[in-house]
Amino acid sequence: MIYLDHAATTPVKPEVLKEMLPYFTEEYGNPSSVYRLAQRNKKAIDDARAVVAKNLGAQPNEIFFTSGGTEADNWAIKGMAEALKEKGNHIITTNIEHHAVLHTCQYLEKHGFEVTYLPVNPDGLITPEQVEAAIRPETILISIMYANNEIGTIMPISEIGAVAKRHGVVFHTDAVQAVGHLPIDVKAQNIDLLSLSGHKFYGPKGIGALYVRRGLKLPSFLHGGGQERGRRAGTENVPGIVGLAKAIDRAYQDLAAKNAKIKALRDYLIDGIYERIPYCRLNGHRERRLPNNANFSFEFVEGESLLLLLDMEGIAASSGSACTSGSLDPSHVLLALGLPHELAHGSVRFTLGEDNTKEEIDLVLAKLPAFVERMRAMSPLYEEFVRKNS
Ligand SMILES: *Cc1c(COP(=O)(O)O)cnc(C)c1O
Repeated sequence: MIYLDHAATTPVKPEVLKEMLPYFTEEYGNPSSVYRLAQRNKKAIDDARAVVAKNLGAQPNEIFFTSGGTEADNWAIKGMAEALKEKGNHIITTNIEHHAVLHTCQYLEKHGFEVTYLPVNPDGLITPEQVEAAIRPETILISIMYANNEIGTIMPISEIGAVAKRHGVVFHTDAVQAVGHLPIDVKAQNIDLLSLSGHKFYGPKGIGALYVRRGLKLPSFLHGGGQERGRRAGTENVPGIVGLAKAIDRAYQDLAAKNAKIKALRDYLIDGIYERIPYCRLNGHRERRLPNNANFSFEFVEGESLLLLLDMEGIAASSGSACTSGSLDPSHVLLALGLPHELAHGSVRFTLGEDNTKEEIDLVLAKLPAFVERMRAMSPLYEEFVRKNS
């Protein structure tokens, strides 16, 4: 099995699982109870909160645990909309956000809010100037992703944070693809709200967090008990929280060295594909991208069919984003880059991880050209194209 879909999810690292296991069995107390069995759980949560905070340049009381990235995005956006609805009804985001942000914004549009979806350039980037130009007196929130899950482009977050601060507008970033992969400092970058998710950096699924800058009045999202200082009710996912903390801490250890290794392997894959396969293009910005992401469009190829051929060889990749595959709509991200439908349909995303090897990439480079060739051989459009160009 050659796993090249780390943007969809990552395996839990053994050392992360080891930290979690006692909290399923021996250390099962409810953190809200008074006896020591329970209080040890409460301490584990407090320690985990401090670890997560430290890795983001935040204070522990600014971290709230959630069920994942989707909940953190929903909470940040719906919560700020509710809190600031007397001040204004305008939200700024981009047209390549994850559906957890896009569908939340669309929901708010049905409830009286106006949303500006800033169009990205052909590399998948927006500029701080675009954000500034979109700000109106009634703008209450800017929500712009840190790094894109499909094409890996990294937005100019610090510069956008500075714009938001200058105009006194709250700034949220969906940093689910960035946390554990890029250095983040919420204070220096003027980030007010930040979403993260454990399973994107070798932690467990079903656990994430929202950073909320101190002083920001974000209403409670889940009502019930007094957990998370009354802001997010529900008995805490203690094993998940402990795993999340271990995962973020290990992710940021030797980050530069890990990223250099992954990037070198990724560039080897990109160069290899360009050398071996004609009529293809790398989607997203060549430099400003996550070190592990290579998203390619192959002309005259159907991405989903290519994935099936790859899967037969034990190679796991994805087309579009995992959440949209299974639907026949081409990816909204690729269309936003200006790709025609055929090219958007002919795309495959390879996202590498810490454990991929050069041998694995060599195997992909050995198999892929023949698969692409085989699919093109069945395409009448390709036949016509070759005839015209020969
Ligand atoms: C995976 C992902 C999410 C959703 O996170 P979950 O924890 O799976 O709910 C949100 N935004 C981005 C950019 C993602 O990659």
